[in-house]
Amino acid sequence: MDVTIRELAGWLKGMDDIAVFGHRAPDGDACGSCVAVTLALRALGKRACAYLPGGMPEFLRFLPGQECVVADASAPFVPQCALSVDVSAPDMLGDNRALFESCPQRAVLDHHESNPRFGQINHVEPDRAACGEIALLLIEALGAPLSKDMAACLFAAVSSDTCNFNYSNTTAETFEAAAACVRAGADVDEITGRIYRTRTEARTRLLGLSLAGLQREGKVAWARVTNDMFHNAGALRCDTERIVNYLIEIEGVEIAVLAIEQEDGCSAKFSLRSLAPYNVARDVALPLGGGGHERAAGITIHRPLREALDLVLARVREIL
Ligand code: 5GP
Ligand code: MN
Repeated sequence: MDVTIRELAGWLKGMDDIAVFGHRAPDGDACGSCVAVTLALRALGKRACAYLPGGMPEFLRFLPGQECVVADASAPFVPQCALSVDVSAPDMLGDNRALFESCPQRAVLDHHESNPRFGQINHVEPDRAACGEIALLLIEALGAPLSKDMAACLFAAVSSDTCNFNYSNTTAETFEAAAACVRAGADVDEITGRIYRTRTEARTRLLGLSLAGLQREGKVAWARVTNDMFHNAGALRCDTERIVNYLIEIEGVEIAVLAIEQEDGCSAKFSLRSLAPYNVARDVALPLGGGGHERAAGITIHRPLREALDLVLARVREIL
């Protein structure tokens, strides 16, 4: 059932022992939105935790509210109520999927058009650039005052999914949400400095290794990140974040594919980006079992990197 943000807030007010779930390989929007909503629920006297598979990625560890993050399914309490935030499909819950499904009450808050509405109640706004925008409305509807910590998390969320207000998904509402966060004390220079103007040496080396293998075919560019590259760069799994941007930013490229070999060596995760009019969620990711947004989508394929990449490129060539 689809519900309004007020209905979702009313529903949450009647709950306790709440688990807020983000997606696997959580990004700034998932982390920031989940933590902010968890802080708001705690401010209302609820027992709540933010379940982020693998925990907060290293490059977001500067954000406040880390104490409410649970990195795996080892619950500090048995959750009765689940709220998934920024999770485009149940498999994106990663190792927390069983815990989500074990909760008697389940709601979905999301901004992915492709979301199959997998909660008992669902609030999905595909026109929102970031879940952070909707999380802010939820916090307002809950009647929790926006603290400086919640504001910092939500600013990071909104900034992350718009590449700091650069992408075509950025709207007047996005800026309004950001303005509310700045008014409540979010430190713009600190947050954007940590996300966009700082990277570890290992992350920089991984970027170099990946881009050195760049391939190009007309409007399409692709690159790979292999387990050897992670090893040689000394990089973390989260260090692939935004490598795909360098591909889509190449002059003349309209579809970009980053193929990331998974630790098991027999599956691969893909980050897809496109320029208008190409819809990589609908036309590439969804047919292969993934999802996302028109211009930014992803898939995990349980095949070795090379085979999986061939499948994705074949699909991409079809839509060109
Ligand atoms: P990214 O490339 O940044 O990992 O993901 C881009 C977008 O696609 C995000 O909104 C993310 O939630 C979505 N996405 C990434 N991987 C998958 C996937 O395996 N399945 C689905 N349904 N969505 C994905
Ligand atoms: Mn998002």
